[in-house]
This record gives sequence, C-alpha cells and structure tokens, in this order.
Amino acid sequence: MKSVRVRFAPSPTGPLHIGGVRTALYNYLFAKKFKGTFILRIEDTDQNRYVPGAEAYIIDSLRWFGLLPDEGPEFGGEYGPYRQSERKEIYKQYGDKLLADGNAYYAFDTPEELEMMRESDQTFKYDSKSRKVLKNSLTLPPEKVKELLEKGENIAVRLKIPENEIISFNDEIRGHVSFESNELDDKVILKGDGMPTYHLANIVDDHLMEITHVIRGEEWLPSTAHHVLMYRFFGWTPPSFSHLPLILKPTGQGKLSKRDGAKFGFPVFPLSRDSDHEEDNFTGFKDDGFLPEAVLNFLALLGWSPGNDQEMFTLPELCEVFSLDKITKSGARFDIDKAKWFNQQYIIHSDNLKLAYTVQDKAIDEGYNVSIEYLADVCGLMKERVHKTDEIISGGRFFFEPPHAFDDETIKKRYKPENSKHFLKIADQIGAGEKNEIEQIIKGYVQENGLKLGEFMPILRIALSGSMQGPDLIQSMMLIGNKESSERITLAVAYFDKLF
Ligand code: GLU
Repeated sequence: MKSVRVRFAPSPTGPLHIGGVRTALYNYLFAKKFKGTFILRIEDTDQNRYVPGAEAYIIDSLRWFGLLPDEGPEFGGEYGPYRQSERKEIYKQYGDKLLADGNAYYAFDTPEELEMMRESDQTFKYDSKSRKVLKNSLTLPPEKVKELLEKGENIAVRLKIPENEIISFNDEIRGHVSFESNELDDKVILKGDGMPTYHLANIVDDHLMEITHVIRGEEWLPSTAHHVLMYRFFGWTPPSFSHLPLILKPTGQGKLSKRDGAKFGFPVFPLSRDSDHEEDNFTGFKDDGFLPEAVLNFLALLGWSPGNDQEMFTLPELCEVFSLDKITKSGARFDIDKAKWFNQQYIIHSDNLKLAYTVQDKAIDEGYNVSIEYLADVCGLMKERVHKTDEIISGGRFFFEPPHAFDDETIKKRYKPENSKHFLKIADQIGAGEKNEIEQIIKGYVQENGLKLGEFMPILRIALSGSMQGPDLIQSMMLIGNKESSERITLAVAYFDKLF
C-alpha cells in the first residue's frame, strides 16, 4: 500500500471551530495509525474572506492539542509551499489545461447580470443548461471571446459539467454516492485575477501533495462530484473520500455553529480571543479550564466509536484503535456535560505539578503569587472536586487568602457560642504546634474535654475556608500552615460570637 498522506486544509477565514479540530484529529489519528504523514495546508485563495491572524490561531490551536503536522507552513516538508496563496502559478497551468481540453470555458457575465438572473429565477444555476444562453466562450463567436479576454474584465473560468451523466464515487463512511450531472453547477475554478477557487486549488494540491485519503466535513460532499470530474479530466486517480458527520447543537437540532458558544454558554473554540467585534470575542476551551487531552478524547467519540464501551483513550491509544469504518453516518450531538465529565477524569488523573503549571497563569492573574510547589499541593487537594481546572483557583481561594465571608446560615444553626473558648484553645495549640500534629491536636482536645467532634469539625472548616464544602480539612490546614490556620480560627470565632 502507498504510504498514507492526509491533510487538514482549513481556510483562514476565522478562528478554528471545534468541528475543524475534530477533522484535524481524525486526519491525525488516521495518519499515525498507518505511520503516514499528517499535512497542514492553508487554503487561503479567497482573499475577500481572509482574516489576519487566523492561520496563527489554527497553528497555535493544533500545538495546544499536540496535533503537530509533519508537513505544513512553519513545519516544512518537500511538497510545499503549503499556503495556497503562494502556489498561484501552479494552479493557472492546470486551469489552462482544462480550458485547452474543452473541460472548462471562459464566462464573461458581470456580477450584475448574474444577480439579475438570480432575481428573476431563485433556482438559477450556472449549469449545463443555462450556460447555453449566457455570455461565455461556448456561446460567443471566437472574435468576441478574444476581444473580451483582451479587455480583461469579469473573466471567470468555469468547469464544464457534462450533460446527462451520473457522477458517482465511493465514500468510506457513506458508501456509494451519486449525483446527477444536470444538478451540478459549472463552478468557477479560476477568477479574473488569476486566483483559483477552492475547488481547483484543492484537487490540484491533493494530487501534487500525493494525498491518499481526504477526510473532511460532510458539507463538502456535494463538491466531491465536481472534484471527481476534475480528477477524470486530468486523468488522475482520486484519493479515497471520507465525509465526517455533522456536530449537532446540544438540542440535537441543526449544526453546531460558531455562534452557539455564546448562545449556550460554553466554548466552541480551542483558544480565547479578544476582539472589538463581539462575535470574535470569546473564551476558548483552554481558558475555560479544559485540558487538551480531555477535549481530544471527547471529540474523538463525537462521530466515531471504538465498537465497545471503552471511553477513556490517550492520544497514542486512539491512534492505534481509530478506523474510518467506525465513523458514524448520522450527526453527533455536542454535549458539554460529557466534555466536562471527560475533563474531570483527566484532571483527577493528572500529575499535580502539571496541573499547577496549567493553572499558574490564572493564579497570578488573580494576584495569588505562590510557589509552584504550593500550587501543586492545592491542585492535589482540589482536583477530585472540580470539572474544570479554573475551578481549582475559584473553588480554592482560601488556600491563597482568608475567607471574605462565612456561611452564616450554617453557623447560626450549628455553632454553639459556649464552645468559643474551646475553639480559641484549639487555635492556640495549632498555632504552637507542627503541621503534622494538627489532627491530633483537634481530636485530642475534643476527646480530653468530653466534647463532640461533629460539633467542631464543620465549624473549623467554615472558619478556615468560609464554607462547608471543600477538600479534606486537616490536609487543607496542613497546607495553609499552623500559624495562618490558628489566626483564621481566632478571627472567625470572634465573628461567629457576634452572630448570637
Ligand atoms: N478549505 C476547506 C475548508 O475550509 C477544506 C475542505 C477540504 O478538506 O477539502 O474546510
């Protein structure tokens, strides 16, 4: 078998959406499974839709996920350049070949003329029927064509779709797919400025870059008929095609869109972006507290199944078990709770120090300048209690500063002012002791004085952290330190007493 070469071919028309990440992931997994090559190709021929910074965003996102291309802009390779805008000359000769062979033609219709056609007929298509009455090199006399070409205005090269044919191909996921050629439009393949459109550039590059498998979103399925025709016109063997199912909204109705993040209140992009445009201003999975390996595991199962009920997979495991035939045909519903569940699992199993480095920026942003070792210990205590890494900081503020408020309701119900002297004594003893004595100090004191531990532990917890919820109390005190714990208890008790 030819060595596998696959490509992820995003257009830099905006930040990479989570659906694009899944496409990249499946390409990556397929390449690695067969020890093949994963290529990043930037499809930036449509200069009107080009968004500055989008390419860097795509690459930064792939880096965050660890889906590193073997070839691509910034990654090198022998089939470059990997940015289509740098390959303009290459496409022109292929467009010329299609023209010379009669498989493409010049069209001279102005945008206004085409607009008028669309207005008078909503279903208007530039196709094998309408081209017979439109302004193109098939209908105009050769002298007129020459004249218009010399004038150089409104020239487009269109693919000449044959009439009355069934165009069929095999899709690895959907099986046999066919389209009637009369339903297909004569797509523009080269524009007046000599720039190719997606269709021409895409197949020329897939051919020249020796792509063996095209794995891409379902929305490209109808275009594949055009692509298959072009392969035939060039006399090239097409690659194998796999069109991935849609990712659906949480409601299961319709495709998950870029705007759904803001609408449903969860991230749909990997990395955050700050922008003056509201639509381009969002928090990505990373800043929302997701680990890249958790998002990948979640995405892997969004449209693919291993064929058993295993859910947790490392990236190398996925590379081993991934296969195209287990990709589902129907859309996969995006379930943020499932994503959080994966994230929780990955957080629990993460190394404390690694987690500490993940949340370090967030801690610093909040003004918590602690050592990485201290942060690692906080992570160790908090990690079983969170779904997202940012909750380690937001839920563990008491590790960095005394509580600003207390759970008064619980204090009113459970605190006994007559115990205040005991709390103060416990505080004193903790302050004078060592950290590994804390547990013994509390338990010993309570026992010796014939008191009930259940009346003390919850109150101590509130004194220390402000609330009833939190990680192991003794461990938390040991981390916060004897002196600080003692001071917090003393101050809190004074406050509690005033509530009565
Ligand atoms: N440039 C296309 C996109 O933005 C790529 C489609 C394909 O993979 O052929 O999705």
